Amino acid sequence: MLKFYTDSMFGKLTRFLRFLGFDTLYRRNESVEEMLEESKQNERIVLSSSQSVSSSCKKQQIQSIHLTSTDISDQLKDIKAILDITINFPPDNLRCSVCNGSLASRNKSEVVDRIPEGTAKHYDDYWECNSCSKIFWLGSHWEDIKKTIEEIR
Ligand SMILES: [Zn+2]
Repeated sequence: MLKFYTDSMFGKLTRFLRFLGFDTLYRRNESVEEMLEESKQNERIVLSSSQSVSSSCKKQQIQSIHLTSTDISDQLKDIKAILDITINFPPDNLRCSVCNGSLASRNKSEVVDRIPEGTAKHYDDYWECNSCSKIFWLGSHWEDIKKTIEEIR
């Protein structure tokens, strides 16, 4: 599975890539140097809109993709065109949108006291983050995500 490091400004793309199961780090307070070092060490593909980041990557032989669009569908299409990634739907390897941890499937009964009242009535599939313990389910935002994924498939 490919691993990514998204440059700042790509918060939405980060959440999407994690949702699709890709191990993705997001640059917040880290310096560009730190991002490149981590990417080099762990073979992460750098996603950035900065020309200077792209040329630094090239110099250091780090794989990178220069993204020019601010639209999430176009960004994913560009990545897909270059890397030939397979997008499974529904994703089979979700990762936590908050911390990039891996998610484990949970029964409703295991999480019922940790989700908002009423949620259990509407949704059956739940996941828990192995790192930060956040509970996920395919809520109403799921439809938006689904639409975007269908667009790029
Ligand atoms: Zn998490």
